[in-house]
Amino acid sequence: MPFENLNITEPLQRALAKEGYSTPTPIQAQAIPHILKGEDMMGIAQTGTGKTAAFVLPVLQRMAQEQKVTAPGVPRVLVLAPTRELAAQIDQSFATYGQFLRFRHTAIYGGVNQGPQVRALSRGVDTLVATPGRLLDLMDQGYIKLNGVEFFVLDEADRMLDMGFANDVRKIVSALPKKRHSLFFAATMSRQIGELAGRLLSNPVRIEVAPQATMVESVEQRIFFVDQNNKDVLLLGLLKQKQLKRVLIFTRTKRRADKLALMLSKNRIRANAIHGNKSQNQRTQALNSFKMGRLQVLVATDIAARGIDVEDISHVINYDLPNEAESYVHRIGRTGRAGADGTAYSFCAADERNYLREIEKLTRTRIELMDHRYHSEHAKNAVGAAAKPAPKKSGRVPRSPRHNSVRRSGPRTSHNPSRRR
Ligand code: AMP
Repeated sequence: MPFENLNITEPLQRALAKEGYSTPTPIQAQAIPHILKGEDMMGIAQTGTGKTAAFVLPVLQRMAQEQKVTAPGVPRVLVLAPTRELAAQIDQSFATYGQFLRFRHTAIYGGVNQGPQVRALSRGVDTLVATPGRLLDLMDQGYIKLNGVEFFVLDEADRMLDMGFANDVRKIVSALPKKRHSLFFAATMSRQIGELAGRLLSNPVRIEVAPQATMVESVEQRIFFVDQNNKDVLLLGLLKQKQLKRVLIFTRTKRRADKLALMLSKNRIRANAIHGNKSQNQRTQALNSFKMGRLQVLVATDIAARGIDVEDISHVINYDLPNEAESYVHRIGRTGRAGADGTAYSFCAADERNYLREIEKLTRTRIELMDHRYHSEHAKNAVGAAAKPAPKKSGRVPRSPRHNSVRRSGPRTSHNPSRRR
């Protein structure tokens, strides 16, 4: 079904054609008609499904149906996003899809000087994409009033709660007009998310695309059982393979991200790390280098990776498995985007064995095992106390193992998943 069948107006069709998008993704096909009718919506969709355009297109269309002169700092559309990267990216989507419409858009987020953001607001703004902290800041300073908001979108609500924004979101919502059109997106459903949605939405339609079991079908997944002290050599071997062109690697902590990026650089692999302790400029720079192909590897923590929209990520590597199974789904959704094929490799040491069990339960799949020279039966068979991380000793960060013998070659069989399981 082409976009024309969704009653998208000509200026938006033209922008879509220019971007080379002719067919709506499933979330777009399902969500757009409801949003155009003015219905509140709860969408369960992971990133990579095309969910941004699923709300940006119909919201722009409805906004453009009624031309209004906006007062400084009084937006008509408010989108809340958990991270700066995601906010900037959604704002970019408004710019891209709305390139043939007349409207003003801006994004505001913390970590950068507020001056340019305040100036943009004072020129008048129709669509505002914001992270909660900076929005509340600028509201407190009197630069933004939410009493003109007609459309409210809460994106990645589950991540918003994970990051501790529940109170901020509540405060923001209480400043919105009662009569408004609200849309709510989350990657996964939970009781907390249901409660939040219940407070924000009135009589919503619920749309769910690509349930957790199937959403990652375009991603080839493999598990590598490996002892912690062999993760570095295993990784170096893998990165020598030609097909690992643009690789996003996840670690569990910022410190491990930095250490890993340093280890890779020392081994002449073009790598950098992004995480919450880096300045916005450093993050933008690293991300741009990665996009342009100047870096082969970007090492990231879960939160920093939210909203990274880099096309053609050939491989996601989970150097550490995430302690929340949902994060696995988010992580591997960074590759295989919009129908492209991608590969996700996950390293699992003994103390991560239970994390893997949780992931397989959530995704209802058994991830295929990769046979390689550092294979650890100990990790594969770990149960009980051995299958979870040792309790933290007070005040001390556990030391990660030293990496040595980096010149050894990589896995024996790169494309030969074992049938042993
Ligand atoms: P999102 O889930 O919003 O992060 O979008 C994932 C990627 O899909 C982005 O790079 C979009 O530009 C791209 N995309 C969105 N809509 C379409 C479409 N209808 N056809 C092809 N690609 C799309």
